[in-house]
Amino acid sequence: MAIILPKQVGTEEGRLLFQKSEEVKTFDEARAIVASLKETLDYYGGVGLAAPQIGIPKRVFIVDIKNTLSYKEKYPEGEEIGFVAYVNPSIIEISDQKNKDFEGCLSVIYGSLFGIVERADFLKIEYFDPQGKRHIDEIRNPFHARVVQHEFDHLEGIIFLQRMETKDFSKLLWEEERDIRRIDKKK
Ligand SMILES: [Zn+2]
Repeated sequence: MAIILPKQVGTEEGRLLFQKSEEVKTFDEARAIVASLKETLDYYGGVGLAAPQIGIPKRVFIVDIKNTLSYKEKYPEGEEIGFVAYVNPSIIEISDQKNKDFEGCLSVIYGSLFGIVERADFLKIEYFDPQGKRHIDEIRNPFHARVVQHEFDHLEGIIFLQRMETKDFSKLLWEEERDIRRIDKKK
């Protein structure tokens, strides 16, 4: 596998972003998908990526939340989360407490469009790691929980724009300099 420019909504090959993905059958397959996701996320940057975004309609996503300055500013108490791969995940509990914040997506205008989405503050998720071990994690960091909800949505064929309240569409931000195709030009 290799680095794959994330598929885009509104294109022919981006149609699977609106389809439900299927469970992975073997952990060999899961590991190959995770390797590709990681390589792509490392290259283009971002905090999460799901298999359908690189053209694979399987239930796998990764998060990689580094202790960057902006993360520490926003969540001074937040622990470093780092890299986690989720294979065949199910969200088994989700909080009533919610928060609103901006989100972007590497599959929506190449990561350059940001909109306000309401997400649950914390959740409980059951999943397998790429080695095949089953986990149940409580995710109490609201940013981590947000990323997991965003990526899990990709497996259900939902993008963040569909989670927005219509009144917040007037506050969409477009930041041209965040377009990930600029990275290809630089490298
Ligand atoms: Zn996304």
